[in-house]
Amino acid sequence: MTETKYVYLDYASTTPMDPRVIDEINNHFKETYGNSASLHSIGQRAGKLLEQSRSIVASMINSDKDDIIFTSSGTESNNLAVSGVILKNMNRGRHIITSSIEHHAIENPCKQWEKDGFKVTWLPVDKYGLINLKDLEDAITTETILISIMFANNEIGTIEPMKEIGAIAKGHNIIFHTDAVQAFGKVPIDVEEMNIDLLSASAHKIYGPKGIGLLYMKNKGIKKGIGKYVSPIMWGGGHEKDMRPSTVAVPLIAGFAKAVEIAKEEMTEEAERQIKLRDRVINWILENIDDTFLNGHPTQRLPNNVNISFKYIEGESIVLDLDMEGIGVSTGSACSSKSLEPSHVLLAIGLRPEEAHGSMRATLGRFSTEDESDYFLKKLPHIIERLRKMSPLKKGVKYMFDNASETNHHHE
Ligand code: PLP
Repeated sequence: MTETKYVYLDYASTTPMDPRVIDEINNHFKETYGNSASLHSIGQRAGKLLEQSRSIVASMINSDKDDIIFTSSGTESNNLAVSGVILKNMNRGRHIITSSIEHHAIENPCKQWEKDGFKVTWLPVDKYGLINLKDLEDAITTETILISIMFANNEIGTIEPMKEIGAIAKGHNIIFHTDAVQAFGKVPIDVEEMNIDLLSASAHKIYGPKGIGLLYMKNKGIKKGIGKYVSPIMWGGGHEKDMRPSTVAVPLIAGFAKAVEIAKEEMTEEAERQIKLRDRVINWILENIDDTFLNGHPTQRLPNNVNISFKYIEGESIVLDLDMEGIGVSTGSACSSKSLEPSHVLLAIGLRPEEAHGSMRATLGRFSTEDESDYFLKKLPHIIERLRKMSPLKKGVKYMFDNASETNHHHE
C-alpha cells in the first residue's frame, strides 16, 4: 500500500458507494427518470423498477415487499416510527420505552415528545451496552404504546438481544421499533423471527447513496388488537401508500437495492473477514499500548467496530493527528460535536467523563485491508505516546472527577 492513499476507518459514519452501485444509479439517472406515479410508459418503467427494488430490499430482512416504505434517511425513518406511532396511539397511552444509548435520531424525537408531556423510560445498559430484559419488562405499563431499542449501537457496536425484546413486546401487545441503521446489511435480520414491527435502515451505511432510507412496517402498519398503528408525519401527494409523500427518488432506490443485493451475497464472508481484522486491531492495541480498554461487548458486537479508550488524552487530538497521517477515525469526545458533553453512550456504559473523552472509534468496511490496518497500527502508538507526553492528565495524578468510582459503573 502506498502511504499516500487515505486509510478510511470511519465506515460507521458513512460508506463510500460501491462502484457497482454507482454504475447502477448512473444508468438509471439517464434511463429511468420518470415519476413512478405517472401513468405513461416512462413513469411505468420507473414504477416497475421501484417495485423490483422494494422486493430486493425486503428480502434482506425477510419482510413482505409491501411492508417497506422508502424515506430520505435513517433519521426520517426513526422520526416517522416514533412520532407516527405516538400520533396514532396517543389515545391508548402516553408512555414509550427506549434505551439510554440510542442515536440522536431516536433520542431527540423522544425528548421532544417528553417536553410535550409524554413519559419516556430511558433504560440503562450494563458495562457492555446491553439493556436488561427484566428492566424492560418492569418498565411496561398499561400506558406503554412503543418500545424502541436499537439493533446495534453506532459508537460501541454492541448488538442488543432483538429476539428476546421482540418476544416481550409481542407478549404485551406493544409496538416494537428498532433502529437497525448500523446492523442492516451487516448481520442477519429476520423481522418475523425477531417479532419486529417497525425497522429503520439507511442506504449510505451499506455502500449505497446518501439520501435514501427505509421504514419497515409489519402488515403495512396494521396490528392485531391495535389496528393501524402508524400515522404519516408529512402530508402530500400520496406516494408510498400515503405514508411518505413526495416524488420517489427511484434511481437512488435502485442504488439502495443494488447495495442490498451485494450485501446479501457477501455478508457472511465479509463479516468473517472483518471480525478477524477487527479482533486483530483490538488485541494489538490492548496488548501494545498501556492504559487502554475496549468499549462495548467483546463478541456481541458489529463485525466492523473497534472502540478503545486511551487514558489521559483527548479523542479529538487522536483523530486530528491520525488524519495528518492519512487515517480517518472518529471519537466520542466532546469537542468534535461542538458541545462540552462527552458521548452519552460512553457515559451510559459507566465511563468517567475523562475516559469517554479519550475514546477512539475505528470502523472497518468492505474496502479495508490488512495492509491498511498495519499502517494504522504502525502510526497509532507514536501518536498516543506524543499526546500523552503533552497531556496534563497523567498516570498517578488524580482526576478532576475522582469522586466517581474507580471501576466502570452504571449511570442510571
Ligand atoms: N441511527 C443510527 C444508529 C445511526 O448510526 C445513524 C447514522 O449515523 C442514523 C440513525 C441516522 O441515519 P441517516 O444518516 O441515514 O439519517
